[in-house]
Amino acid sequence: EYLQRIHEMDKVLSAFLSVDAERALYKAQLLDEKWDKGEHLGPLAAVPVAIKDNLCTKGMVTTAGSKMLETFVPAYDATSVARLEAAGAIILGKTNMDEFGMGSSTELSGFHPSKNPWDPSRVCGGSSGGSAGAVSSGMAPFALGSDTGGSIRQPASFCGISGLKPTYGRVSRFGLIAFSSSLDTVGPMACSVAELATIFQILAGRDPMDPTSWSEAAPYSDILHRKGALDLKDVKLGVVDIFSSSLEENQVNDVMRCFLDSIRVFTKLNAQVVSISLPYLEEALAAYYVIAPSEASSNLARFDGVRFGSRQEASHISELYQKSRGLGMGAEVKRRMITGTFALSSGYYDAYYRKALRVRQCIIGQFEDLFRQVDVILCPTTPCAAFELGERMGGDPVKMYREDVLTIPPSLAGLPALSIPMGFDANQLPLGLQLIGNRQGEDLLFRVGHAFQM
Ligand code: GLN
Repeated sequence: EYLQRIHEMDKVLSAFLSVDAERALYKAQLLDEKWDKGEHLGPLAAVPVAIKDNLCTKGMVTTAGSKMLETFVPAYDATSVARLEAAGAIILGKTNMDEFGMGSSTELSGFHPSKNPWDPSRVCGGSSGGSAGAVSSGMAPFALGSDTGGSIRQPASFCGISGLKPTYGRVSRFGLIAFSSSLDTVGPMACSVAELATIFQILAGRDPMDPTSWSEAAPYSDILHRKGALDLKDVKLGVVDIFSSSLEENQVNDVMRCFLDSIRVFTKLNAQVVSISLPYLEEALAAYYVIAPSEASSNLARFDGVRFGSRQEASHISELYQKSRGLGMGAEVKRRMITGTFALSSGYYDAYYRKALRVRQCIIGQFEDLFRQVDVILCPTTPCAAFELGERMGGDPVKMYREDVLTIPPSLAGLPALSIPMGFDANQLPLGLQLIGNRQGEDLLFRVGHAFQM
């Protein structure tokens, strides 16, 4: 059924970069045989899944949205993918994304843009736009995305679904094609928080292949069904005063209306609500756009046409590098590698990179202070709803960067954050609510998000 739906709908939406129907049906048949023999099937037995194309899938092309990796077939699975398959999930295909995760609309894919199922003249958000579009249109019941500065939460918000950026290290990054290693996370995207909790339980945990991964994992989906879980009287919510933050003028009313409505829902659920502010919003954005490109410039050095990446014909080695990288990578990726190399170069390191790290440390400290006062922080996920295709392309790249103003602060602090649908704007486009939790506070985020959705 899902393959049929992809066949019919993906012509319009372009959420997938590749679909392997034969492999999916074969895996389903294997599960069927296991079932007939009375063997144990995992908790996700025969549940189809779409995988963002920067997660390695053994034997299936993995491009990270780049022409550079157009023909790359990994010899191993990402740990997150392997865990889902071990639980019985069946991969339908790989989803479209901004090249190497750099972008907020999936228009910066090296292949084609993806279209928003709510209005195909608009973007899905990014960089996990293909995953968001696939779930939102019912082409997959759930998907994996990656989030470095907002790439799960912002497309979830634009497509009217739920998405979780886990605490840094909660889900193994092994097999994720690296963008910015100190910020990258892998997480689930689905229609409801209850589904996210079930999937997260399978994804989370220590992986010897990723030294930054954590061991503890809670029985997340059980928490939601505990007696009294839906009464939030023991929960203190910090509501971000968004009047003072950088939202776009014309959108403020819709975002504000939905945000105030959702706070009313939480008050009805008996949560205590206090007003807080998130200072350093502008500085966070600036620090991110120094740190992420710096790490990217180092991570992407391996794609040189020799060690990794498609190789162009050339008569000597530097021409080979130039041609392979020149033709293989898009303009935004080049911009970030140049910015990052500059920020790390001697003479500029202190002025840019080290300063950005100091700002990051201030933001971490500020969140620590806030979480001494409240349990969960609430703010909109994005300053606006899905924009028109092409609207922010060309010209000033900062227009696109500003999309991330509300999702970047928790990323810099390594905190978990959930985006759930909170309402619609005047054009009937979905808007997302962001719930930011304390380090390893996914259980409480699920409980609060689930209570809201119930
Ligand atoms: N949009 C942000 C960027 O372009 C975040 C992307 C991401 O989280 N992968 O860097």
